[in-house]
Amino acid sequence: MQLVIKNLSKTYPNGVQALRDVSLEIPTGMFGLLGPNGAGKSTLMRTIATLQEADAGTIHLDGTDILNNKDEVRKWLGYLPQEFGVYPKVSAEDMLHHIAVLKGITNNSERNQLVDALLHQTNLYQSRDKKLGGFSGGMKQRFGIAQALIGNPRLIIVDEPTAGLDPTERNRFLNLLSEIGENVIVILSTHIVEDVSDLCRNMAIINKGEVVLAGEPAALIGRLDGKIWKKTIERNELPAIEEKMKVVSSRLFAGKTIIHVHADHIPDSSFSRVDVSLEDLYFTQLMASANGKVPAEG
Ligand code: ADP
Repeated sequence: MQLVIKNLSKTYPNGVQALRDVSLEIPTGMFGLLGPNGAGKSTLMRTIATLQEADAGTIHLDGTDILNNKDEVRKWLGYLPQEFGVYPKVSAEDMLHHIAVLKGITNNSERNQLVDALLHQTNLYQSRDKKLGGFSGGMKQRFGIAQALIGNPRLIIVDEPTAGLDPTERNRFLNLLSEIGENVIVILSTHIVEDVSDLCRNMAIINKGEVVLAGEPAALIGRLDGKIWKKTIERNELPAIEEKMKVVSSRLFAGKTIIHVHADHIPDSSFSRVDVSLEDLYFTQLMASANGKVPAEG
């Protein structure tokens, strides 16, 4: 299976250009769409989910034109939006039944089986009688996945699902997604680098409406191998170093500041080589796209 996005552009009526000529090829498995707030991720997710029109461009899933076959596409699409509202007074089980009926599963025993299986899969079986209004953030997100899975979707779109989850809930949620992602396309939009590095076979970085990098995380990280250097400094030294070098990140550690610098060669002997992480790649790429350069292509 493959989702092919070609030359997608969108400008909102207020003049904000949210997508600029976006082209991506997304194979089966988990695909991470990584970008800062305002990059255009939700716009892209909503367009693929047929909830919003683009100004130009096409999206095909195995030859089916998504933007011109919305009714058909909605039958095999699972979507978990960023703002996921629930009916607070309905139980998880009743709500899943309700959605399943809406999706055309009218046979009672078939529906009972499906709802039970989904509640087990998302680890909500024990809470099936609980009202959705009393669910924690993580439970709500897992319920969101359960409802998105009704109807055996081939394409699942999950927009910023881990924001606000505690580490345990986040892990549980991501494990659930990766199990699902073995046979279908799961697009995970996020601004959290670890969500992508932990799970995604393929990824793209989007910034200011443009795809700035796409590929397999390990291969993309490999391109920066030997080009990221670190040094521990005093906080007040940072501005002077930033004048001279491309500081891709700085973080506090035990009262000191550790900086990562992007350079083709070791800046001086006070630096040491870093095992490049996806975070290094992400920040390097965002910096480069802000300056109009794309170093990881080299
Ligand atoms: P992300 O999901 O990466 O945070 P969005 O797609 O939500 O990015 O937003 C991309 C840009 O489009 C932002 O500048 C945002 O303010 C703008 N935007 C999003 N939705 C609308 C809208 N309905 N009307 C006008 N501008 C919008």
